[in-house]
Amino acid sequence: EETEPIEEARPKTPVKPMTATEVKVNVSIPEAAERAAATGADGVGLLRMEHMILSTNKTPDKYVADHGVRAYVDEIVEGVRGVAEEFYPRPVRVRTLDAPTDEFRQLEGGQDEPHEHNPMLGYRGIRRSLDEPDVFEHELEAFKRLYEQGYDNVEIMFPLVNDASDVYGAKRLMEKVGIDTGKRTWGVMVETPASALTIDEMADTGIDFASFGTNDLTQYTLAVDRNNENVADRFDELHPAVLKLIGQTIETCREHDIETSICGQAGSKPEMVNFLVEKGVSSISANIDAVRDVQHEVKRTEQRLILDSVR
Ligand code: PEP
Ligand code: MG
Repeated sequence: EETEPIEEARPKTPVKPMTATEVKVNVSIPEAAERAAATGADGVGLLRMEHMILSTNKTPDKYVADHGVRAYVDEIVEGVRGVAEEFYPRPVRVRTLDAPTDEFRQLEGGQDEPHEHNPMLGYRGIRRSLDEPDVFEHELEAFKRLYEQGYDNVEIMFPLVNDASDVYGAKRLMEKVGIDTGKRTWGVMVETPASALTIDEMADTGIDFASFGTNDLTQYTLAVDRNNENVADRFDELHPAVLKLIGQTIETCREHDIETSICGQAGSKPEMVNFLVEKGVSSISANIDAVRDVQHEVKRTEQRLILDSVR
């Protein structure tokens, strides 16, 4: 199959970050890429792979059974490429599959999904990917194809890791499909307390970045179901326990020269932006509609920090 030359993927405007802390954008669906790029964001902090899968209305297994592996990989390549091209050469961070079983069950082929009492604590993210390496390798194959096509701005992010062994598992499979883990940019989400508490061990795995998934990190730290309205008033991303985990993780990452970022919803909140910039986070990813405000908030905070330092 012939692919478009990378020359067509040049940026429309010169790319120069407004602030020392980069401000990126979360892209919910590939179709929103153009609008997201127009915000002037420094890249994409989160593009969720499951949107490309869910939009086919089939589970990965069902899709592969009906159309074959090649078509499945193509589906992912096409979805990511649209965004990677729109943003080139700004980085686009793509997260591998992280759909809970209750979401997969809605899809064609979903009747085979396991029934779980707590899908959020269950079979999803990197756990499932490492358990079903075939499906995972198709995703990694898609990344390899994108790199071969010149989209070196694509970055790989693994969800719901708990510790270094999860990371080594993912790394081994990247290498198995032929991704040069020394050359490509890849990293993890910090969205379980376990991952925040073992980040020093993960630092030795070769990760380039750690990105805070505060939606889950808050849910798991506070034991507050993010989808349960009875406890919605207790879902507080700025809770001291959550901030402590984030702050410690940033410190450890800075010691190890690992970039940090946030891709959870809280990245769009001014209080969180202040906290992160003060801690020295590398980048913040916000929703499309919040990018402008976050850019200004980052700038204000950086200027205040400079003033404080000379006083
Ligand atoms: C998060 O947990 O903060 C996150 C960005 O991932 P998701 O919302 O897809 O679980
Ligand atoms: Mg999450």
